[in-house]
Amino acid sequence: MVRPALRSRSWRRVYRRTPGGEAVVHFERRRPGKPTCWRCGRPLGGVPRGFPYEVRGFARSKRRPNRPYGGYLCSTCLAELLSKAVVRGGL
Ligand SMILES: [Zn+2]
Repeated sequence: MVRPALRSRSWRRVYRRTPGGEAVVHFERRRPGKPTCWRCGRPLGGVPRGFPYEVRGFARSKRRPNRPYGGYLCSTCLAELLSKAVVRGGL
């Protein structure tokens, strides 16, 4: 039996064969989900899906769209909110 922390299903089980021919279980973190828009919940485009340590290596421009609220709001919601903001004078 593995240590209690690894029995949780928040760890992915990966079966690997060692050079000696033995099958062993490796425990890996599940990959993060797709980033979503905080307003409508739809998946965001232009935002990479990966562990923070992977994404950290990317150029800033490869991490999220370079526009106001890029990486938080989808383009549709931003356009909608901005058109309202013009009327009311702020988001
Ligand atoms: Zn949205």
